[in-house]
Amino acid sequence: MNTDIEKIITLENITKLYNTNSHESRGVEDINICAARGEQLLILGPSGSGKTTIITLCAGLIQPTKGTVILFGKNVKDYSRSELQKLRADCIGFIFQTFLLIDSLTVTENIKLVQRFSKKRNQIPPEELLKKFGIYNLRNSFPGNLSQGEKQRAAVARAIANDPALILADEPTASLESNQGFIIIELLKKYAAEENKCVIVVSHDLRISKYADRILKIEDGKIK
Ligand code: ADP
Ligand code: MG
Repeated sequence: MNTDIEKIITLENITKLYNTNSHESRGVEDINICAARGEQLLILGPSGSGKTTIITLCAGLIQPTKGTVILFGKNVKDYSRSELQKLRADCIGFIFQTFLLIDSLTVTENIKLVQRFSKKRNQIPPEELLKKFGIYNLRNSFPGNLSQGEKQRAAVARAIANDPALILADEPTASLESNQGFIIIELLKKYAAEENKCVIVVSHDLRISKYADRILKIEDGKIK
């Protein structure tokens, strides 16, 4: 794997079909996507259009039915299961719809947990990450006591705890009211630009369009 590469991920002519019981359903069809360092790519589409399918393909969690996924310069098919696990632990950061911070752990412990799965040396101290995002004063707080804005900051701090070259965010603003702001998207865009990382956000939320470097639209499993 080459994590210094410019093109972090490429999906070439990807079709993903799911076989459930008797019928086959289509996740995505014949899509092409490429994302590089330094950019925040936003993929917009309604519910059921294939967004989560794309994120799970990008993470190597599922294999395409047709086409090729090149992740860090290598075909996903050619990684072993343990190589993919290592890649996810060391090189990919995840953000989910409701952030999935662990409520029984403090903000600092949430970050340490992610770091424990990684074998990377020179990890960024959690305190430094929390300072970077302006929530150092909340280091011993539990997620349940944070405001929505603070949770967004904590989710980004945790997602980048392993200094990943690729961040995948699935509907990161879905649980937010617009008056709470979309700080999570702003922070991710800044992270991509300043740290030269690749961020892919999938969402149905048109309100965040202005924070993207590049936008692709997906409908019925196809890129428009
Ligand atoms: P989105 O995230 O945009 O809502 P998804 O990628 O979850 O879309 O789903 C795209 C299509 O693939 C939908 O029609 C959905 O029903 C189908 N699909 C997704 N995951 C599965 C699965 N595990 N098994 C069967 N069908 C699935
Ligand atoms: Mg989804």
